[in-house]
Amino acid sequence: MIDAMDILVKNAVIVTQDRNRKIANGDIYISDGRIDEIGKDIRADADIALKSRSRLIALPGFINTHAHIAMTPLRGKVDDIELSQFLDATSRFDSRNSYKKIYYSAVLGILSMIRSGITHFVDFYYGEDAIAKAIEDIGYNAHLAWVTLDKDKTTQKGDPISNAEHFIKQYKGSGSVKPMVAVQGVYAAGKETFGAAAELADKYDTLTTAHVAETYFEVVQHFRKYRRTPLQWLSDIGFVNRRLIAVHCVWLSRSEIAIAAKKAGAVSYNPTSNMKLASGIAPISRLVSMGANITLGTDSVASNNSLDMFNEMKYGSLLQKVKEGNAKVLDAQSMLDFATVNGAKILGEGDGTIEVGKPANIVLLNPEPNMLPVPKAGGIVKDIVYAANPGNVAATIVNGQLLYNNGFAEWIEKLRDEALKFLARG
Ligand SMILES: [Zn+2]
Repeated sequence: MIDAMDILVKNAVIVTQDRNRKIANGDIYISDGRIDEIGKDIRADADIALKSRSRLIALPGFINTHAHIAMTPLRGKVDDIELSQFLDATSRFDSRNSYKKIYYSAVLGILSMIRSGITHFVDFYYGEDAIAKAIEDIGYNAHLAWVTLDKDKTTQKGDPISNAEHFIKQYKGSGSVKPMVAVQGVYAAGKETFGAAAELADKYDTLTTAHVAETYFEVVQHFRKYRRTPLQWLSDIGFVNRRLIAVHCVWLSRSEIAIAAKKAGAVSYNPTSNMKLASGIAPISRLVSMGANITLGTDSVASNNSLDMFNEMKYGSLLQKVKEGNAKVLDAQSMLDFATVNGAKILGEGDGTIEVGKPANIVLLNPEPNMLPVPKAGGIVKDIVYAANPGNVAATIVNGQLLYNNGFAEWIEKLRDEALKFLARG
């Protein structure tokens, strides 16, 4: 970990994402992990000043609401295959995992997220204690959801519900790691497991998350068994409430769209993963019109390959335009909201805005060369959503710590090399 330092961002275009979605011009002063001052030519006594020849663009760090970071070594190994083959390969990988392998995989995944401007994520896996250690070693932030499923379907040692409870007890109240409970999905967990997970969430006041209606096959299978589609069934058994981040929601009926909008805490839209696995197109613009809280997730690198929210914003919007046959749906501002303030709404991470007093979770973009000429005012958001990529990320500040500044600090590079060496052993 590095010592907290005062950081001055000089002469930036600031995409505040505040209530009025104001775009400001000026400096940002960061001290003690928080945004201390915003204005023109403010104090210059910082430990480090960040500036660039082209004006930097400052925006709130991205919040990724769905990841399986321990699967990072699967990048490039399970592509362009049938879903059944994909699931066989990923569960074979999961069953052979170890504490150390999960730890080093998490290190690489976190570095990849920092490099693309993500400052907070929700992970969904077992072995979250190893991921928590990686979070703490790097000085990062995350909600870590220990996955539960029926005992006869798991590759975890012991009972997944007891494992989840043990993990939650261990990390409840820890600053940078917020524990929560996940359920794999209706195809791997019955009513009893969903009930036990909901009880844990109530007992320890945590959030919940589950994969919901990701594939048409899942929906048909579940309907055959219960005469209910997955989200309707989850709602009937009391699992859909304000604590829930429902992931995917690709195949929802009209009444389920209303359930997701009115009862769930958030829907995590994972457009790249849904495209790559040919799962389908989630009814996001309809969910939005019903008032749902939509957030964005990358899913794992097995079904995405990138941990890159620029991709999710751009392709998430384009996909909805194709689905609805309407170029106006899900504009750039909506996508930036999904990636920042909407994630913060469910996770409670400083509102996802750049405002005085808020935690300093900030990304700085250097617009050279692909974002030039930078348009004025509202056009900047379109530039970010439709033209930017992780190559534009000049710096990533997490809780006031400068984790990336045109390169990682030496100690982070050391951890990266250690991870690569360990994972090369297979
Ligand atoms: Zn997933």
